[in-house]
Amino acid sequence: MMMSAPAVATGLGARLTVDLGALKRNWQALDKVSRGALTGAVVKGDAYGTGLPQAARAFHQAGARFFFVATPDEGIVVRATLPEDAHIFVLNGLYPGAAPLYVGERLMPCLCSIPMLEEWMQACLARSESLPAALHFDTGINRLGFRLNEAPVVKRMLDQLGYAPQMVMSHLACADQPQHEKNRAQLALFSSVLSQFPNVPASLANSAALMTGREYHFQMVRPGVALYGGRAVQGRRNPMSPVVRLDAPILQVKDVRTGESTGYGALQTVSRDSRIAVVGIGYADGFFRHQSSTNSRAGGRVVVRNQYAPVIGRVSMDMIQIDVTDLPEPPYPGEMVEVLGPNISVDDQADIGNTIGYEILTSLKGRYVRSHVETAAPSGV
Ligand SMILES: *Cc1c(COP(=O)(O)O)cnc(C)c1O
Repeated sequence: MMMSAPAVATGLGARLTVDLGALKRNWQALDKVSRGALTGAVVKGDAYGTGLPQAARAFHQAGARFFFVATPDEGIVVRATLPEDAHIFVLNGLYPGAAPLYVGERLMPCLCSIPMLEEWMQACLARSESLPAALHFDTGINRLGFRLNEAPVVKRMLDQLGYAPQMVMSHLACADQPQHEKNRAQLALFSSVLSQFPNVPASLANSAALMTGREYHFQMVRPGVALYGGRAVQGRRNPMSPVVRLDAPILQVKDVRTGESTGYGALQTVSRDSRIAVVGIGYADGFFRHQSSTNSRAGGRVVVRNQYAPVIGRVSMDMIQIDVTDLPEPPYPGEMVEVLGPNISVDDQADIGNTIGYEILTSLKGRYVRSHVETAAPSGV
């Protein structure tokens, strides 16, 4: 069983709001950029923290028919959620002994080793059926994938059965840095693999590669993070619509004197008489401890009444302290502060927390009340 939120959700704690309208607009925008190729939707990691069934349904309504999950368990959720016409690829491949499960749930493994391919070919033989699957080649990331020199063996095994794969794929190591020489190198190696599997549809691009250029699109693109409003390409304006909003409640407001410290470790002392607000969000909620502030290093921040308020002191499991001295009026307990939203993006928080938007998004779980809303596009867009 999947662990889920506490059984009692009163809505008094932090609230995560996911905009399904923004998910749909983001998919459609990327589909336009990759015109000529099919646009899939990567929904692994609970759809990057936004809720797997809800996000999958939104993408399907927007027009997506090809879904990429990491694990068979995620695949089962998508299968149970979507109409028959959804095609589901499992990026982690075929787990040993799991072929009957994949067949029953109509999941397509991204096969990446000879033993996996052997197990799948056995399943095909046993059922006298060409069960659909993808072939995943490693062109330099040294993560999952057949090694390039295995291509002839793979080809021989397929030919013996007269088996045609649904797709040949690979994954880029440095797509977020479009100028990185590794992208060109991997593209060239991928093209050499494809020449050995003529007429099989190909897929190489994640979000960043999709945004980088047509030469990476082939027949199917596989965006993930950009669908969820995250920044895919480093150092460029992020054109995607924000999808998540996270608000957390103020628990207590108090005044502290110059020279007093706040939080565990007493790592930050205030240099003026200050007003602090204690906010009910902490590292157990995905507000990373790396966003702590000390006397020598600024930490994260949130937004209160349209003003930024910096974290002061250490981030605890369940709370943070923020400096609200500069607000004209003190905030009150129960008032919500913006942790992610229109004024502070997933990537803003990631930059401060020394991580990436992906990790911020996939850490959005635990004690939130998560609600899904559907907004229309802002006017003028
Ligand atoms: C996660 C993943 C993607 C999506 O990547 P983004 O950078 O989130 O767009 C695509 N392909 C593979 C193999 C992945 O693991």
